[in-house]
Amino acid sequence: MTNRNGRRKVIAIDGPAGAGKSTVARALAVNIGFDYLDTGALYRAAALKLVQAGLNEGADDDLLSSVLRRTLIEFKNGVVFLDGKDVSEEIRTPEAGHYSSVFSARKPVRDYLLEIQRNAGGTNGSSGIVAEGRDMATVVFPDALKKFYITADEHTRAQRRHAQLSEKNPDVTRENARLDIAARDERDTTRAIAPLTRAADAIEIDTTNLSIEETILKMLKECL
Ligand code: C5P
Repeated sequence: MTNRNGRRKVIAIDGPAGAGKSTVARALAVNIGFDYLDTGALYRAAALKLVQAGLNEGADDDLLSSVLRRTLIEFKNGVVFLDGKDVSEEIRTPEAGHYSSVFSARKPVRDYLLEIQRNAGGTNGSSGIVAEGRDMATVVFPDALKKFYITADEHTRAQRRHAQLSEKNPDVTRENARLDIAARDERDTTRAIAPLTRAADAIEIDTTNLSIEETILKMLKECL
């Protein structure tokens, strides 16, 4: 597989929250020997830093930029580092999830993470990356070798999100998960910068009635 622009090979995967992107992206990367890039983890780490700096949704762009200028976010071998510290656990709290969704709509945050995403990967000497997020195919890697849009109906995504959240917090209800998904969908699709949308040349896979294995198989067939 070679990229259209002759540079690093990228498989770009986008889709709404709870569609199962992370699971299939990680497995696909292992199968084809590429690095895996979880860009949601980068947005979560940026949000964590902004919250730690005392900022909330009311902060203006200059304030966001000044904190991010003093921030180092790295993604190495599936682990996200904030200012040199592994924050894999901290970024999975509901608070980090909420603020990542809120701050990801802001230009300084998206600008800050753009180059980090484009330069990520290659840590294992692999020849390419499987990058997963909301704007991989449309903004970050428009020249990607393959583009996928992974989706599932709202009910299924809420169920999956519930299963995921209740592993850590048994008090989370199905209704909490449904509301969380609905709020993220709304913010992701309506923001002015890099909204979630299917790239015209992306292959859409609806995973509502597919197992993880069936989804990966479909993707592998497209890649080989
Ligand atoms: O995928 P995950 O839920 O971990 O992402 C956290 C948040 O980061 C999402 O709710 C989404 O708003 C934002 N995000 C984004 N663009 C990406 C990846 C994630 O806006 N490429």
